[in-house]
Amino acid sequence: MTTVTRFAPSPTGKLHVGNVRTALHNWLLARKTGGKFLLRIDDTDAERSREEYVDAIRADLAWLGLTHDGEERQSLRTDLYEREFQRLVEAGRIYRAYETSQELDLKRKVLLGRGLPPIYDRAALNLTEDDHAAKAAAGEKPHWRFLLDHTQPITWDDGIRGPQNFDARQMSDPVIRRADGSWLYMLPSAIDDIDMGITDVLRGEDHVSNTATQIQMFTALGATPPRFAHEALLTGSEGKLSKRLGALGMADFRDQGIEPEAIVTLLARLGTSDPVDPSLDSAALAASFDLSRFGRAPARFDEADLHRVNAQIVHRLPYARVAHLLPEGMGEAAWEAIRPNVAHIDETQGWWQVLTGPVTAPSFDDETRTFLTEAAQIAATLDWQADPWRTLTTALKDSTSRKGKALFLPLRQALTGHDHGPEMAALLPLIAQDEAVRRLSI
Ligand code: GLU
Repeated sequence: MTTVTRFAPSPTGKLHVGNVRTALHNWLLARKTGGKFLLRIDDTDAERSREEYVDAIRADLAWLGLTHDGEERQSLRTDLYEREFQRLVEAGRIYRAYETSQELDLKRKVLLGRGLPPIYDRAALNLTEDDHAAKAAAGEKPHWRFLLDHTQPITWDDGIRGPQNFDARQMSDPVIRRADGSWLYMLPSAIDDIDMGITDVLRGEDHVSNTATQIQMFTALGATPPRFAHEALLTGSEGKLSKRLGALGMADFRDQGIEPEAIVTLLARLGTSDPVDPSLDSAALAASFDLSRFGRAPARFDEADLHRVNAQIVHRLPYARVAHLLPEGMGEAAWEAIRPNVAHIDETQGWWQVLTGPVTAPSFDDETRTFLTEAAQIAATLDWQADPWRTLTTALKDSTSRKGKALFLPLRQALTGHDHGPEMAALLPLIAQDEAVRRLSI
């Protein structure tokens, strides 16, 4: 059976790292076996859902390279939910209830006060048709609850957490539809997972108890539940997903010079003890993606790690991938020379300036100036196509007593205005010969 996964964001905000990790892992799980990855926009909450967030979600996934094999929107699927809802009502698995949130609060407090779990008492099940008619006549509209089956133990073998057991008697019958007819998340999601042939639901452990309920929904709807796996939540370096991390979207990372490959590479491994390997491409990442590698301890996301991985990624990015991001006129040889020295692509600007000039060199003592003048004379005679740095330094080593740092550093400083930087052998041919001679003649 082909693996079919889905990422089901609610478009009530922009994606943060935690959401993106869920999306990525579902994508990897599908890609690993040549399966399908679906994007499902959970926009049943009309008040909080915004079109701009739907667009941002699509744009973020595209930027990250998380291509999908189909997009669905819950707001366009309400006919199906209505049909399935009626079916469950007729089967006696959905019932009407009228308690206000204040009444429910009070019931919970009473139970807690007696040291009992705050489970809904199913009082509404005792209402007769006459009671319902009276409420309707008084203008009271019901909301709807799903009737859990207390006789069936709820079990599943979680892909990450292992065997799970829930007792329906310890759970409240969930409200699945509001009095105004709008849907809560639980039932439409189960209906969609069945209709879309989802084989694997991989999501955060904040959904574990929803899964217990939804397993009964799958069964009530006549379907076999999919495989479930729940990942430990993501935390920041300080131990919880900080406000800052929760608020940081992909656009913020992009503005910080983070490349999508860095996010993908890091998040693919986050939650496992496997090392982050920046050389892995997405096909290799998918091939090695394995739920059994994930632990139950919270996964720590550290922005400093992301910048470190970003540097490793940038050092490997081919010219064709970055050409449009580089300073005007900068070619492949310049990118390859500069690449090892930048952690973010926009730092190439500074090195491009070094290549094209002008540069500001430090002031040198007289002896060094004499040395540099000699260097300028030799540089003027060299074939600039044939490894000028090696020829220049070999000639200077022979004609002066300088070697090591005393030989190389003043040349680097005069030619680049910096004490450190990319390999001079790669850099020098990229500086025009007459410009290099001018820089050395000081
Ligand atoms: N829209 C739900 C959420 O964002 C989806 C959860 C799920 O994956 O089933 O939490």
